[in-house]
Amino acid sequence: GDTREHLAALREAGADAFTVRRRSELDAVDALVIPGGESTTIDKLSRIFGLREPLIEALRAGLPAYGSCAGMILLAKHVLDGTQDQQTFGALDITVRRNAFGRQVESFETDVDLDGIEGGPVHAVFIRAPWVESIHNGVEILGAVVPPGLDESKIIAVRHENVMATSFHPEVTDDLRIHRYFVDMVRAAQ
Ligand code: GLN
Repeated sequence: GDTREHLAALREAGADAFTVRRRSELDAVDALVIPGGESTTIDKLSRIFGLREPLIEALRAGLPAYGSCAGMILLAKHVLDGTQDQQTFGALDITVRRNAFGRQVESFETDVDLDGIEGGPVHAVFIRAPWVESIHNGVEILGAVVPPGLDESKIIAVRHENVMATSFHPEVTDDLRIHRYFVDMVRAAQ
């Protein structure tokens, strides 16, 4: 996925950020960003690299995490329109619809007000993005948009305790507020 952009944004937001591909790297982090990309591929790679089980354990034990786009899918407990063998890490009790905006538009951009993000709306870039179909067990909604061509709003940002997810890609913009929000969340959890 787009790890390079996330690393740059996290560093600018004051974090000591590095990539996680191995168990030892996972064990060294205080928090994890799961980037966009392709959720089915990231799922498969996590199994090939032996990261799936340790990651699920770490999330269960309270590792703070932020998933953007494919990362949101991977953090969700339930996926609609996934591939048949697709698995997730299940840390957020939400149901996401993969490639949800697909039939209306593959990719689009819009401004969205997010709970907890001060200073006006965030410019949100959606690239074959999921949306959150439903939330369960205390998951908070941080933001929603009305997708082009629809007349109802769809949830695109959520948080539960120290796990958050957005359908969009803040790392492709110069706006650091989402990464700062996450870094602050991680610091507050320590
Ligand atoms: N459509 C991708 C998936 O299913 C997500 C796209 C993205 O991360 N930009 O995982």
